[in-house]
Amino acid sequence: MSDQYTFQDPVTQYHTGGFEAQPQDGPGLAADLGPHPDHGESTYRGTGRLTGRKALVTGADSGIGRAAAIAFAREGADVVLNHLPEEQEDAEQVARLVRDAGRTAVLAPGDLTDEAFARSLVRTALDGIGGLDLIANVAGKQQHAEDVADITTAQFDETIRTNLNALFWIVQEAVPHLPPGSTIVNTSSVQGYQPSPNLVDYATTKSGIIAMSKALAQQLAPKGIRVNVVAPGPVWTPLQVAGGQPDEAMAEFGQQTPLGRAAQPAELAPAYVFLASPESSYVVGEVLNVNGGMPTP
Ligand code: NAD
Ligand code: MG
Repeated sequence: MSDQYTFQDPVTQYHTGGFEAQPQDGPGLAADLGPHPDHGESTYRGTGRLTGRKALVTGADSGIGRAAAIAFAREGADVVLNHLPEEQEDAEQVARLVRDAGRTAVLAPGDLTDEAFARSLVRTALDGIGGLDLIANVAGKQQHAEDVADITTAQFDETIRTNLNALFWIVQEAVPHLPPGSTIVNTSSVQGYQPSPNLVDYATTKSGIIAMSKALAQQLAPKGIRVNVVAPGPVWTPLQVAGGQPDEAMAEFGQQTPLGRAAQPAELAPAYVFLASPESSYVVGEVLNVNGGMPTP
C-alpha cells in the first residue's frame, strides 16, 4: 500500500503497468475494477484544512470524485454526494467513509442532465448539511467514437449536458447562497488541450470547462468566491472502462505519460483540497494539471 506522504519515486509509487480490458455497462462501478483503484481510503490524512465546510461533490461515488469526497471529509467538511442511481453501491461506500471521518454524508442520487435535478442539489445541501461553501464538479461523461459519423446527436447532447450544462446550472443556482470564502473546483482534462481524435464531443466540453471557469472566476472573485480547475491526465477509474476508451487501449492506458503510468484517484485529491481550502486564497481561475508530466499551455 503506497501513500502520498512517504518520500519515494513517483514512477513506481502506484500501479505501473497497463490494464486488462474489462468493459462495464452504464456508468460503471469502482467496486468491479481490477486492480482495485486507490482513492485514499486507507491513506489520506486530513489536517483540518476544510474544518466546518459544507461541500457538494458530483460524481462522488467513484474515481476522482470519491477521492475528493474522502479527502474533504477527513479535512473536516460535511459532504453531499451526488451520483447516478445505478451507482448506489459505490456511493454507500463513500458515505460510510465520510461518516467514519466524523462528518455528515448525504446521498443525492440523480441524473445531472435533468436541469431541475441538477439545480435541486443546492437545496439538498442547504437543507441536508446546513449550507454550501464548496462545490467540486467532478461528474463527467466520456464515450469514445472512432468516426465522427458514429457520434449520435443523443450522445453529443448528453456529453454536453453532463459536462457543461450541469456545471452551469449548479453554479447559477448556488451563487446566491455562497458566502464569501466559498470555492468552486471544476474538472477539466488534458483533453482540454490535447484532444484525442476519438473524443471529439468530450474534448470539446473539457476545453469549454476551462473557458467557463476562467470567465466565472473573474466574475465571482469580487464576491469572494474563487473558481479553479483541476485537469487530470489518465486516471484509473470506471469512466475509462465504461466506454471512455476502446478495450484495446487499456493495455497502454497511462503508459505514454512521462511518469509512464496512469494515476490513481488518490493522487488527484490533494489538488482539489488545495483549491478548495483558504490555503489557495490568491489562486483564481487557475488550472492545476495533474497529468504525469504531459506538457500543457
Ligand atoms: P468516474 O466514472 O469514477 O466518475 C464519473 C462520474 O460521473 C460517475 O461516477 C457518475 O456518478 C458521474 N456521472 C456521469 N454522468 C452523470 C449524469 N448524467 N448524472 C449524474 N452523474 C453522472 O470517472 P472519473 O475518471 O473519476 O471521472 C471524474 C471526472 O474526471 C470526469 O469529469 C472526467 O471527465 C474527469 N477526468 C477523468 C480522467 C481519467 O482518466 N479518468 C482524465 C481527465 C479527466
Ligand atoms: Mg461512478
